[in-house]
Amino acid sequence: MDIISITGAAYIVAALLFILSLAGLSKHETSRNGLTYGMVGMAVALAATIAQTVDVSEYVDDRGLVIALLVAAVAIGAVIGLWRARIVEMTGMPELIALLHSFVGLAAVLIGWNGHLEGSHYELDSLNNIHEAEVSIGIFIGAVTFTGSIVANLKLSARMKSAPLMLPGKNLINVGSLVLFAILTVVYVAAEAESGLQNAILVALTVLALALGWHLVASIGGGDMPVVVSMLNSYSGWAAAASGFLLGNDLLIVTGALVGSSGAYLSYIMCKAMNRSFISVIAGGFGIEAPAGDAKDYGEHREIQADAVAELLAGASSVVITPGYGMAVAQAQYPVADLTAKLRAKGVDVRFGIHPVAGRLPGHMNVLLAEAKLPYDIVLEMDEINDDFPDTDVVLVIGANDTVNPAASEDPTSPIAGMPVLEVWNAKDVIVFKRSMAAGYAGVQNPLFFRDNSQMLFGDAKDKVEEIVHHLN
Ligand code: NDP
Repeated sequence: MDIISITGAAYIVAALLFILSLAGLSKHETSRNGLTYGMVGMAVALAATIAQTVDVSEYVDDRGLVIALLVAAVAIGAVIGLWRARIVEMTGMPELIALLHSFVGLAAVLIGWNGHLEGSHYELDSLNNIHEAEVSIGIFIGAVTFTGSIVANLKLSARMKSAPLMLPGKNLINVGSLVLFAILTVVYVAAEAESGLQNAILVALTVLALALGWHLVASIGGGDMPVVVSMLNSYSGWAAAASGFLLGNDLLIVTGALVGSSGAYLSYIMCKAMNRSFISVIAGGFGIEAPAGDAKDYGEHREIQADAVAELLAGASSVVITPGYGMAVAQAQYPVADLTAKLRAKGVDVRFGIHPVAGRLPGHMNVLLAEAKLPYDIVLEMDEINDDFPDTDVVLVIGANDTVNPAASEDPTSPIAGMPVLEVWNAKDVIVFKRSMAAGYAGVQNPLFFRDNSQMLFGDAKDKVEEIVHHLN
């Protein structure tokens, strides 16, 4: 059997493993298996691609050099990947993922430019035109993904303000850029191959796409960032698929399409969960107006101390804990698990209410709670628990803010208006764990803190939960 047949078979195996991986990742019980399938699939794909490249490389006379270059590239990538994966905090995952998406985008731009510089030399003009269209589309999707992901990384790591950039005529800028891209592509394909005009058009197209990617993501507000991350995931898949066409690599096309379509579907599910328009978010906040000033006076808030919370909990029969990003920052999941065990031992019914976008990545809270070995059956989704709050004695809001903000359902002018939230304010008592009165990720004040049944427990969430556990003894 020749190497092409062997790699073809290996590519089919790898593609199947990627599909199994996606299926596994859809449920937390099977997600470990999903990851394993993905890793094995990637190892098979890499081995097959390297074997094929070495075999058919035009530098076949110097196989040693080809192998050395490939091994060096894989080794450098693997070392950096291992190092980053080992040191990354759970809270830093979304920005790392955004950065990785930017690499896929950059790779697609470089592959596109390589395709342009190498040119295509088919006898049929129509095939050359298809190649040129692939170059243009590949560079465009790649460049949008590249800068869009860099902005997402900067916003998620708080190095750039999470508020939406509101340039005048922003919708016109986005739509105009798409129209301009279509025109440039047509002119690029029609221009004489390898001419100065083609080079100039491709430079203009690359700059346009880089600027559009930046603008699209900069225009989206903090509350909608979860959708942006999954949307960029989808774009990176399409960028990889476009590169697959240029390189003539079937597996890259299949894998890119899998990532692209699953990312698009995840974006759609998240938009539905957040009651956002899918089109509006992928079009850079199309139709979203600048948020009104948030200078409303909600009155005074009340404070409570850990010993008083312990007393309240000891007298409760039902408690719901709604964790958010602050629990991840404080790494409070372990004392939260101790608190849960202690309360359950006293006969208190303790459950968790998880908002679909709590934290900074889909499933963030579920991962933290699973890490602390909390049983799955007391961890409920927002829709499963929202009707139970009126019958709940105490809600502990641990480091959550936007996801428990009543303004989302009560104030139509709020930037998060319409987003379904955990209706914790319907419980008898609400205790909010946070360090200050600062706003959440969306930058919106939270009227929950000023309700008559709410009390603030200020301080680091981990320290405060530990204090409560101590007082419960
Ligand atoms: P928020 O980000 O709205 O708020 C977190 C709160 O935690 C802050 O108010 C902060 O207040 C508090 N906090 C931070 N550190 C600590 C600490 N050490 N101890 C105690 N409290 C702390 O959290 P939510 O989870 O409610 O909402 C998530 C937000 O992130 C949403 O807007 C969502 O759209 C967005 N997002 C979600 C993504 C996802 O995929 N899940 C991805 C990107 C964005 P203080 O500083 O006063 O302590």
